[in-house]
Amino acid sequence: MTCALCGLPARDPLYNGDDRPYCCPSCRDVAALLADTPPEDELEGAADTPTTSADEMTIYLGNLWCASCTWLIGETLRRVPGVLDVQVSFVRRQARVLFDANRASSHDLVRPLRRLGYQATTIAEEQMNEAEALFERLLVAGVFVMHIMLISAMLYARELLGMSGGESRWLEDFFRLMLLLASVPVLVLLGWPVLRSGAAGLLSRQPNMHALIALGALAAWGLSARNMLAGVPHVYFDTAAMLLFLVTVGRWLEARAQERGEEAIERLRAHLPTAATWISPDGPKQVSVDDVRPGMRLLVRSGEHVPADGVVASGAGEVDESLVTGEPLPRLRGVGEMVLAGTRNVEGHFEMIVQAVGPKTAVGHMVRLLHEALWSRSPAQRLADHVAAVLVPGAVVLAALTFLLWQRAAGTEVALMNALSVLLITCPCALGIATPLALWRALGEASTHGVLVRDGGVIEQLAGVRSVFFDKTGTITGQSLEVQDLIVDPTTSAREVWAHVAALEAMSHHPVAEALRRAAATTLPLPVTDRESVPGSGVRGAVNGRRAWVGNARLAAEERATLPSALITWADQWHQKGALVVYVGWDRRARAAVALAERLRADAVSALSTLRALGLQVSVLSGDPSAEARWKDRLPVPVHAGLTPHEKVAHLRAAGPGTLMVGDGANDGPALAAADVGVALGQATDVAHSAADVILLTDRLNAVAALVRLARATRRTVRQNLAWAFAYNAVGLSLAVAGQLHPLWAALAMVLSSTFVTANAMHLRWPTTSSLPLPQVIKVRERERIPTP
Ligand code: ADP
Ligand code: MG
Repeated sequence: MTCALCGLPARDPLYNGDDRPYCCPSCRDVAALLADTPPEDELEGAADTPTTSADEMTIYLGNLWCASCTWLIGETLRRVPGVLDVQVSFVRRQARVLFDANRASSHDLVRPLRRLGYQATTIAEEQMNEAEALFERLLVAGVFVMHIMLISAMLYARELLGMSGGESRWLEDFFRLMLLLASVPVLVLLGWPVLRSGAAGLLSRQPNMHALIALGALAAWGLSARNMLAGVPHVYFDTAAMLLFLVTVGRWLEARAQERGEEAIERLRAHLPTAATWISPDGPKQVSVDDVRPGMRLLVRSGEHVPADGVVASGAGEVDESLVTGEPLPRLRGVGEMVLAGTRNVEGHFEMIVQAVGPKTAVGHMVRLLHEALWSRSPAQRLADHVAAVLVPGAVVLAALTFLLWQRAAGTEVALMNALSVLLITCPCALGIATPLALWRALGEASTHGVLVRDGGVIEQLAGVRSVFFDKTGTITGQSLEVQDLIVDPTTSAREVWAHVAALEAMSHHPVAEALRRAAATTLPLPVTDRESVPGSGVRGAVNGRRAWVGNARLAAEERATLPSALITWADQWHQKGALVVYVGWDRRARAAVALAERLRADAVSALSTLRALGLQVSVLSGDPSAEARWKDRLPVPVHAGLTPHEKVAHLRAAGPGTLMVGDGANDGPALAAADVGVALGQATDVAHSAADVILLTDRLNAVAALVRLARATRRTVRQNLAWAFAYNAVGLSLAVAGQLHPLWAALAMVLSSTFVTANAMHLRWPTTSSLPLPQVIKVRERERIPTP
């Protein structure tokens, strides 16, 4: 007999509700999971309502100056005939365009952007490393800027000391000529990209940041050249050169910050191996990872990276999962346990059954989520974008007014300088990057600690959470339960009970079902039809034509089954010992009771207390009727027991706004969706179909508290950034309009404020356990240990 999944001989076959044999429990479990996941095509088809010939294209952008460029690019693309939808990400420097392929070509999309002076390509590889290219330019231009500043300083000093003019006038003129000559390479190297797209922006009557800066630099330079020809000693070559230098430095700093943001994604990708060892029926074979399919049996040797998500079938390994879960120490993964693609087998070797490959693996989902997070726009971000888009034309108008005002009062020269200061100080750079950088950083930090957050909007919601609810089975208690004992009614036999259980539980992912299945593994299941799960209660169906069920006392009552008193007494005894009891019944009678040992997750109590110390209302919601009696003394928070999934949702609704639900996803879908933020645990392989906003790949519940902490810090950072950007603009603007701000100071202030905002965002870190508030000491009554049978 051969295994129905991996094709290897099955000497002691195991069954899974149908009569297909499996060689090991891992193969059987994987087969059940695979049978349950809807095929990818169906999902895609459902999500994507067909739009006849709509095509999607990504355009890679370069030369973006600040967030207002995002707006300009979006507007420009939207005006191309045939374009249906446009999303532009400033952080990622990409535009995603949905367009009608019959009406527009990729060329039509790229051309108007290039005309505006942006680099626009359709292939990622062509995109050069922006930070590096900027740095090269800065290095060369910096030499000239240094000379310009030295000579200017000397000229200023002479003027201040009253030494200018007179006999050495020819020498000063010579140095001014040197200034003019030295500023030309700066203008070309740093100014050209700015000038070009600035001019393009003006021509298309959509003035952008480039236009403001180009206008300023050109005005200062042109004025100086004119003065030189006219023999007037005032020149501003230093202003023009320094201005371009400073803004380019600012842009370089930003580009570097963004590159660091991308590192998280790159690091994930870099750890996926390219080859795998497949245990084929004719022995081990080296195959490419692209050829690995779910159901294959792979060998992972010591030191190798795991090529796909799957379950260990034989052997064991110390697996370093730091990449996916942020867990620093390797974990021993043995038979039946999950291993994830990209993690490294440090020691030992094992065989695994593949469950998910490529983009469907946990790492694949992580990469996708991170990518998507960059596209989605949170409400705060949208507001900042709107303000930024209004500020650019506003700045031009204000500068023009300032110019007119000062021209009357103090002449063209002063008026030009003051108008220039106004232009520079109103640059909405800091405002544009304040929010997205902080949110992006928070998402990146969370993902490197095994916490996947759907988008920046979720971070904003997390910061406002007031009450936290935990599911019990599989969440507060560990994922794996263990069957401890069984009592059988005299009317039947243990064999028959297990045959019923195996049939009914075959398809369920509930932790109780998984434990029961493991216990019933060697039993051939009976034929079953009309299998139906009753969320929060159990499962039922027709076994051998008889109505049968497995579940809690509520289900027994619903099935109007009699509970023999022997079973009730037995169940009470096990409840006292802290075990969970489920009943198995058919023909209107409970025929057996099974006791399962339930263990708290290692950090459950500390996680609950830490959340309370953060000022949150915390409680546990459970579908298990005996949960309150069994757990209320052992947990530092209230336990609400015996709730149907419906009642859980009602509890969430009653709590008002700011709810967070943590569940294992076994039947918590409605509650996860009803909460403002739904956090799902241990769904590494089912990320795609989850109703949750946050997925925990780590099994530490403490991550929830850390996440709330991080979200609050992010909100604080965003507010600080916006307040700073706003205050700096308001103060600087009044000074500039009043003629009290030299353009150089305005440029410096602009760079400093962008740098401040960037540095502030980069400061966000995942809170370490030691930085979380210390929970108060809570006395927890020790329970008698559950004896092993
Ligand atoms: P919780 O809310 O504590 O996570 P659930 O709502 O998932 O609990 O389940 C409540 C109870 O219903 C369980 O304690 C168990 O007794 C029973 N139950 C749920 N699903 C199953 C199943 N597939 N097989 C047997 N019993 C089940
Ligand atoms: Mg549960």
